[in-house]
Amino acid sequence: MPHDAALAELATFLGDRLARSKAERDQHGKNEAWFPDAPPDAVAYPETTEEVARIVGTCARHNCPVTAWGTGTSLEGHALAIRGGVTIDLMRMNRVLQVRAEDMQAVVQPGLTREALNTDLRATGLMFSVDPGADASLGGMAATRASGTTAVRYGTMRDNVMGLEVVLADGRIIRTGSGARKSSAGYDLTGLFVGSEGTLGIITELTLKLHGQPEAISAAVCAFEDFEAAVQTVITTIQMGIPMARIEFLDETAAAVFNAANGTALPEKPHLMVEFHGSETSAAEDAKRFGEVVAEMGGAHFDWATTTEDRNRLWKMRHGAYPACLAFRPGSLGLVTDICVPISRLAQAVRETRADIAASGLTGPILGHVGDGNFHAILLIERGNEAELKTAKALARKMAERALSLGGTITGEHGIGFGKKDLMAMEHGEAWEVMAQIKRALDPDGILNPGKVVEVNQ
Ligand SMILES: Cc1cc2nc3c(=O)[nH]c(=O)nc-3n(C[C@H](O)[C@H](O)[C@H](O)COP(=O)(O)OP(=O)(O)OC[C@H]3O[C@@H](n4cnc5c(N)ncnc54)[C@H](O)[C@@H]3O)c2cc1C
Repeated sequence: MPHDAALAELATFLGDRLARSKAERDQHGKNEAWFPDAPPDAVAYPETTEEVARIVGTCARHNCPVTAWGTGTSLEGHALAIRGGVTIDLMRMNRVLQVRAEDMQAVVQPGLTREALNTDLRATGLMFSVDPGADASLGGMAATRASGTTAVRYGTMRDNVMGLEVVLADGRIIRTGSGARKSSAGYDLTGLFVGSEGTLGIITELTLKLHGQPEAISAAVCAFEDFEAAVQTVITTIQMGIPMARIEFLDETAAAVFNAANGTALPEKPHLMVEFHGSETSAAEDAKRFGEVVAEMGGAHFDWATTTEDRNRLWKMRHGAYPACLAFRPGSLGLVTDICVPISRLAQAVRETRADIAASGLTGPILGHVGDGNFHAILLIERGNEAELKTAKALARKMAERALSLGGTITGEHGIGFGKKDLMAMEHGEAWEVMAQIKRALDPDGILNPGKVVEVNQ
C-alpha cells in the first residue's frame, strides 16, 4: 500500500480519527460533477489547528499528498485525491470562535457551513452574505473564492475574508490580514490563499466580514420575450444605480426545468429573478423603479414574492436548480460551465452559447448571476456516453475561449480544480508560470492537493 509509513505514523496520534475503511474513502472520492471517483488512501479528521499542522508535517516528511475537504460540493474535481494520499476532512473544526458585533466581524473555523453561521448570527441582526447555493464550508468557500447569488450587492469571498490562519506545507502555522478594515502592510497573503484551492496551505481559521440583516426584502420573478430584453434590463438597472441584492437569469429551458421539478407554471421564456434589500421605503422604491425598467423592456408575468414563505420558495427553487437539471434528464451527469464576461458583452456571450448548445444536440439549461456577467450552462450528459462527454467538453472549451475573447474569464466562481487546469495557460500566459513559482516556493514537493490549478514543475 503506498503511503503506509505516513498512515501508520498518523494513526499514532489520530487513532480512529484516521479512517481507512472503504466506505469513508469512497465517500471522500466522489464529486458533484462528472469526474470519475478518486478515493484517498485515508481520511483524517483533525479537531485543532495543531493537529492539522502535525498531519501536514507528517505527510511532508513522507512525501504523501494531502487534500483538504470541506463539504465536497466543488464542481471541477477540486477535492478529489487524484494522486492518492490523505484527505483532511475539516468538518469537526466547525465552531464560531468569536462574533465581534460592533466591528461586524466573525472569527470561525473552516468546517463551519455558511448556513450554520447565519443561524448562529440570527439574533445579532448581522449576516454573512456569500451564498453559493450549496451549504458549503466557509474554508472551502474561501479556498475556491466562491460567490453566488448575492455577490452583485455584497461581493465574493475575496471581499468578505479579512484574515486567515493557514497551515503551510512544511507544517508552519501563519496568520494573514487583521481585524482592521484596511491595511498597507506588505503583500496581500489573504488574497493569495483565498482561491488557492488548498494548493498553498490549509485554512484553519477565518475572520469574516458581516453585514446588517436588511430591514425589508422584496423579491420577484418576471418573464421576457427574448433573452436580449432580459439582459438589457439588467444592464439598464445597473446603469440607473438601482441596488440589487440578487439578479438571476434563466433561459427558457431552465424555466421548463423549474416547472418540472417544482410544479410551477412559469412561461417557457427567459426570466429574471430579483431581490432588493433595504429599509421598507427604499426596498419598495427600488422594486418600483425596477418594475418600470421591466415594463419598458417588454417584460411580463411579473410576480412579487410578498411573504417570507413565497420568497423562500422562490430562492429554494433557484438553489435547487442543479439537482432539478439532472432530474430533467434522468440518469444524467452535469458538466457545469462557469464563464464570466464584462456585463456589456453578456448578451453576445449568452446568444452564441445558446447557438452552440442548439447545434450540439445536447440539453443545456442556462442560469446566471447576470448582475456580475457570470452564467452557467449545465450540459446534461448520459452516464457512460463518451461521445456526449466529448461534445460537452468541446462546447465548454469553446465557451471558455469565447469568454477570453470578450475580455472575461474561464471561471467566475467555481474555480479550476483539475477540470479547467488545461485552460489556465490560455487565460494567464506567463502569469500561470508565476503561479507555479509561488507553488514551488510554498510547497516545493507538491504535496498539497497535487494536480490542481498548477503543477510544481509544469
Ligand atoms: C448545487 C450547487 C450549486 C453551486 N452553486 C455555486 C455558486 O453559485 N457559486 C459558487 O461559487 N459555487 C457554487 N457551487 C460550488 C461549490 O459549492 C463551491 O465551490 C464551494 O465553495 C465549495 O465548498 P466546499 O466546502 O464544498 O469545498 P470542497 O468541495 O470540499 O473543496 C473545494 C476546494 O477547496 C479546498 N479546501 C476545502 N477546505 C479547505 C481548507 N480549509 N483549506 C484549504 N483548502 C480547502 C479543497 O481541497 C478543494 O480544492 C455550487 C455547487 C453545487 C453542488
